[in-house]
Amino acid sequence: MQKKYLMTPGPTPVPAEVLLKTAEPIIHHRTPDFSAALRSAIDNLKYIFETTNDVLLFASSGTGVMEAAIVNCFSAGDTVIVARNGKFGDRQKSICEAYGVDVVDLAYEWTETVKPADIAKALAENPQAKGVIVTQSETSTGVLNDVEAIGKLVKDLPDTVLIVDSITGIGAVECKTDAWGLDVVMTGSQKGLMLPPGLAACTVSEKAWRAYERSMLPKFYFDWKKYKTNIDKDTTPFTPAVTLVLGLNEALRMLRDEGIENTIARHSMLAEATRKGCEALGLKLFAPADGRGSAVTPVWVPEGIDGKAIVSTMKNRYGVTIAGGQDHLVGKIIRVGHLGYFGEFDIITTLAALEMTLAGLGYEFEAGAGIKAAEAIFLSAQDSA
Ligand SMILES: *Cc1c(COP(=O)(O)O)cnc(C)c1O
Repeated sequence: MQKKYLMTPGPTPVPAEVLLKTAEPIIHHRTPDFSAALRSAIDNLKYIFETTNDVLLFASSGTGVMEAAIVNCFSAGDTVIVARNGKFGDRQKSICEAYGVDVVDLAYEWTETVKPADIAKALAENPQAKGVIVTQSETSTGVLNDVEAIGKLVKDLPDTVLIVDSITGIGAVECKTDAWGLDVVMTGSQKGLMLPPGLAACTVSEKAWRAYERSMLPKFYFDWKKYKTNIDKDTTPFTPAVTLVLGLNEALRMLRDEGIENTIARHSMLAEATRKGCEALGLKLFAPADGRGSAVTPVWVPEGIDGKAIVSTMKNRYGVTIAGGQDHLVGKIIRVGHLGYFGEFDIITTLAALEMTLAGLGYEFEAGAGIKAAEAIFLSAQDSA
């Protein structure tokens, strides 16, 4: 037998309390019991998103809610500014193109943050732009983009909506939907919400509803209005993912008990310990100093070491699953997730497995330096608490 640890930025580990809920016998969705669960899940999602806007919930993976945002806000031929610095930003551009939306393409290196000044310039040059789309937390790179600054640029434009992919931002980093003027913010169940894959949620502001009224792209399953009308009556337009909604309710209860500020502080501490632990092993951080998120820590694979072998040895030999690089970064970086149901000893375990793996692959470093550095962060966090 080998004990297994899931240290990836999605799917993420699911707490036993949530697993037990999702193991209960299925209930029918047109019942007061389900309606009560849905009501409380939506209320608690508003708390997590820090919004009083509508929150819509879909049975889909995260990409469904991304596509939904585009088909509900735009028409073919609309101009939309897409700022992208990773795999998920690339996907936003592809979805726009699939629907004939004209993309003003702000492409960055994957090691860079999106620069709000470039968005200001793109908005000035394209006053007809109907939207700005940005990824807050790029899961492919660990880069955190400043959506608060971008919010300030878009907030007062009456006909331009700001769409934020916060699929690995929500529950890991600050994302103040209302205070920052974010029109559509999205997340998915298998990320910070500590659930299996299969649910996705988004917020919709008044401005985004006005965009919906203008939008002419075809939509049916993901038609926002169908969800709003039904959710306002504590029900759903189609058969919901009943089991996951019951689990969501439990996960959100746990997050609400912790308190959103504490959840974000915990993630920030875990990310700092992971960064310091990796650096103590001589590994270089991938994300730039001006934009490091708390959902995932990617590091460069050291010269002469096979990145794929790090991931496979950690998994096969030690039972610890981390993520490798995506697209052109396959084999070049490794990514340690710490999003959702994570605590100090998950980081210690992962760093220990990483150290033992690197030692086995012939990489030279001071044994124990990674976990020692992480422990120092945890001890200092206790002192300042
Ligand atoms: C996971 C993720 C998505 C959605 O991916 P799915 O596989 O469709 O759930 C979108 N954006 C980001 C930043 C993500 O991390």
